[in-house]
Amino acid sequence: MTVIRGATTISADEPDAIRCAVKELLEQIESRNSLKRDEIVSIVFSSTSDIHSFYPAKAAREAGFASCSLFSAQEPDIDGGLALCIRAMLFVERNFTPRHVYLRGARVLRKDIAQKYNIAIDGPAGSGKSTIAKLLANDLGILYLDTGAMYRACALAALRAGVDISDEAAVILLMRSVCVNVTYEGGVQHTLLGTEDVTGLIREPEVSKAASAISRHESVRMKMAEMQREIAGKMSCVLDGRDIGTFVLPDADFKFFLTASPEVRARRRYDEFAAKGRAVDFEALKRDIIARDEQDSTRAIAPLKKADDAVMIDTSDMTVEEVLAALKNKMQEKI
Ligand code: C5P
Repeated sequence: MTVIRGATTISADEPDAIRCAVKELLEQIESRNSLKRDEIVSIVFSSTSDIHSFYPAKAAREAGFASCSLFSAQEPDIDGGLALCIRAMLFVERNFTPRHVYLRGARVLRKDIAQKYNIAIDGPAGSGKSTIAKLLANDLGILYLDTGAMYRACALAALRAGVDISDEAAVILLMRSVCVNVTYEGGVQHTLLGTEDVTGLIREPEVSKAASAISRHESVRMKMAEMQREIAGKMSCVLDGRDIGTFVLPDADFKFFLTASPEVRARRRYDEFAAKGRAVDFEALKRDIIARDEQDSTRAIAPLKKADDAVMIDTSDMTVEEVLAALKNKMQEKI
């Protein structure tokens, strides 16, 4: 006996949507496992509690899966669970290694079964990338890699060493000895310079400016991109930055480009500083952000740019929850 698992989602609780989704799921399971229909002994369905309009077992019978025993049940509500989801478990009279089938967003949201995948979120400062990337990674139970923090750590090293950031040769020399690392404590990224935890220090405004300046250099970008690829190659993660979808991981499974007006972005940064009890000049902050965008977008190597296949989302008038929902919807559509 072999047990095959499968799941799919529907866009609305409507009988026809359920009929189509169940038929597609069962046919996919059948074809991917080269099943003969009479090998299927029984199929058990469960659906999330937001599905009422039709019985998945009945949809299976209508789709021609009539000779096996069929059963449907409703799942309890699970906080943060997938909405409008139908799961199936097929018992098959043969021993083989099953291929489980997850369609329409169900795969990515099944942390235990999903294969490794990477999500690239690029965009300018204050577009909401890091907030969204953190929440999304947490939601999916995968790693969040803040690539900006790595450039910031390089910048801090340069500032401390008194290196002139516009001097290419000096930066190359510095990068030979700089050792940036990231570690995770309770799922939170810590950025290390050598063995020193510089997570807090790299958020200072002068480090932001220097990060943008130092990230223009090939020696810096190549070293950081290599580290980022190595991490992303080992595990599923959400990476946020400027060049993830275009340069670091051009084959990322999901790509997003977040943006927002300079005014809104400056306001967000201002509020972040205010929340920490830091008084900053709003207009100066806005000027810095615009200058940083300009510098990041016009550099020769891996500039800030939307990848052709990235989904663009303007977050200016959206809440964090709305942006997160938009990303998850786009991911479901793609699967
Ligand atoms: O995202 P964050 O503001 O922390 O990034 C700091 C700086 O690092 C950016 O202004 C940008 O110049 C640089 N950066 C980059 N490529 C990335 C991430 C950040 O060039 N992938």
